[in-house]
Amino acid sequence: MTNEFDLIARYFSRPAPAAYLGVGDDCALMPPAPGMELAASTDLLIEGRHFFSNAEPRALGHKALAVNLSDLAAMGARPVACLLGLSLPELRPDWLEAFADGYYALADAAGCPLVGGDTTRSPSCIVISVTVLGHVPVGQALRRDAAREGDDIWVSGTLGAADIALRLLAGELPPDPQLLAATRAALERPEPPLELGAALAGVAHAALDISDGLLQDLGHILKASACGAQLDYASLPVAEALAGLPQALQRQAVLGGGDVYQLCFTAAAARRDEILALARRCGSRVSRIGCITAGPGALQVLDEGGRPIAPLPAGFDHFN
Ligand code: ADP
Ligand code: MG
Repeated sequence: MTNEFDLIARYFSRPAPAAYLGVGDDCALMPPAPGMELAASTDLLIEGRHFFSNAEPRALGHKALAVNLSDLAAMGARPVACLLGLSLPELRPDWLEAFADGYYALADAAGCPLVGGDTTRSPSCIVISVTVLGHVPVGQALRRDAAREGDDIWVSGTLGAADIALRLLAGELPPDPQLLAATRAALERPEPPLELGAALAGVAHAALDISDGLLQDLGHILKASACGAQLDYASLPVAEALAGLPQALQRQAVLGGGDVYQLCFTAAAARRDEILALARRCGSRVSRIGCITAGPGALQVLDEGGRPIAPLPAGFDHFN
């Protein structure tokens, strides 16, 4: 392998579906889909910021795409295609092989073909930029500004494991190999609920994916929808691995922990049974955790005794 073009040909040129023009021209081409809106989203992953330098490349390939597919699911969209921007300080065939394998394995499973990208040398660290495109039926996208007073608030999956794994790996918690083994897959190989997200289009009102912490992300829905929320801590789906941990640490991880890549969504109370049935069909766990209230911006979490938890943990902010 001698240059950029060999690299692309060798690692990132697996065939796209027959109806597509994939890697190799100036643009990829995809057939239009009548009745659909095009959903588009990009996420950057920077070495040392979003992943550790020694991150396992296969898992990293998976995660780079997973965090983007999570945004499509949060909008109620089904994947159409993805593009991969890659900036690497050096050319390491074993790293590229494993990264590409992890990336394509998820792309194949999710039905999200890689149709293009860009590859450059980086002066310092690894930078990965993935763009995803998806389709959602016109008028059915799950927007952040669509929550209504009286809506139920739901989350998919479980909460807290990725945050604990991150704190263990960063040395913020004392070493605990058993706890790390039980939590690190949540951090390194997130599995966003793609089927559930698409099934919620036209059923749920507002949705987003939890990337920076439940409370902070739910706050975006409250702000965009000009309403408030009340949550019951006891109804939150705490990851099993957190069972023996001190209460304060659990609450921080569950309410404030990021890297979850599960959905938080709101829906009319009349649709409870329908939502439980469609979640079962999609193989996703969903929990009803509270309700949308009138008070703009007001966010309360009640403890087991019905008292508001204070202070509430903060989420992640890149510039804070
Ligand atoms: P251009 O110079 O016209 O932007 P490039 O030489 O950068 O084209 O890329 C050649 C082809 O390879 C294009 O189709 C581009 O989309 C694709 N490509 C480049 N890097 C990647 C990558 N990391 N993954 C997938 N496709 C890529
Ligand atoms: Mg280019």
